[in-house]
Amino acid sequence: MRLAIFNDYRLGVVDAAGQRLTDVTAELGGRWEPEAFGAGWWLRLCRDFDELRPQIEAACDRGEVLELETVVLRAPVLNPGKIVATAMNYADHVDEMRDTVLQRVAGRVDPALLDFDVFLKATSSIVGPGSPVVLPAIALREQKEVHHEGELGVVIGRAGIDIREEDALGHVLGYVIGLDMVLRGHGDRSRRKSYDTFTPLGPWLTTADEIGDPKGLDIHLSVGGATRQRANTDQMIVSVPGIIAHASSIMRLEPGDVILTGAPPGVGEVNAGDTVDVTISKLGTLEVHVTADDAARQRALDEINARGGVGPRSRAGSRRR
Ligand code: MN
Repeated sequence: MRLAIFNDYRLGVVDAAGQRLTDVTAELGGRWEPEAFGAGWWLRLCRDFDELRPQIEAACDRGEVLELETVVLRAPVLNPGKIVATAMNYADHVDEMRDTVLQRVAGRVDPALLDFDVFLKATSSIVGPGSPVVLPAIALREQKEVHHEGELGVVIGRAGIDIREEDALGHVLGYVIGLDMVLRGHGDRSRRKSYDTFTPLGPWLTTADEIGDPKGLDIHLSVGGATRQRANTDQMIVSVPGIIAHASSIMRLEPGDVILTGAPPGVGEVNAGDTVDVTISKLGTLEVHVTADDAARQRALDEINARGGVGPRSRAGSRRR
């Protein structure tokens, strides 16, 4: 099943062709809240999905069907407790960082930055498919490179601590396409990856049953139609179950948490005006525009400040972008 959050943070189920969605919000009854800020309904849905699934499936026969082109797709997660990101999980990416990128963007190679690791990104950096990546002022002022990292994203369903690798996939609700944007340079990774709009997620969440073993998924990222990253998830140094086991040995994983699984090789700079496309087998394509127009950040803030969590640009029926 493909779960989408759209328009005024309603819940939709996307068809197999990726052309239409069915609005199933009404079937959630009192479980759904119009207030996007907080969004406990989504976190409870992540936790209780197995129980809710038959109800949502039945709702697909009754709900209003909408062409995807006519809705605003939001990030297919709401208010996760954390984003756990993975560093140095593809050997060819470790090589490119050591041999070329770090020297260029930081003037030196810090060996500590070449080790496999997990770290946190601010959840406020999440945006959906219809929202641009905004280059931060510091990137323009100091001519720092902002890079794309197109990655497989995991959304947690069942909470756990010290999860064993062999049990790990049982804690996964589903998968999303993620872009882990980063300001290259010196200093803390979490800070450089937590700028507003630096975690586009989408286009929808594909539940784990449709993916099975998340090995063997092709990842392709292009900028302006030119291929930058091309890899397969079977090239990960630490597999998805291994990442979940490691992360949960440090911090409990909770329903709705997002895990980014690391950058394939081919990371590179984006500039204002670029269009980034990320495609992952079975998950669809996430298309994101890059801008230096700071107004997009302000609009996201306006939505939070608006009562009901719904801003003027998110009215039902408005077109994407
Ligand atoms: Mn990354």
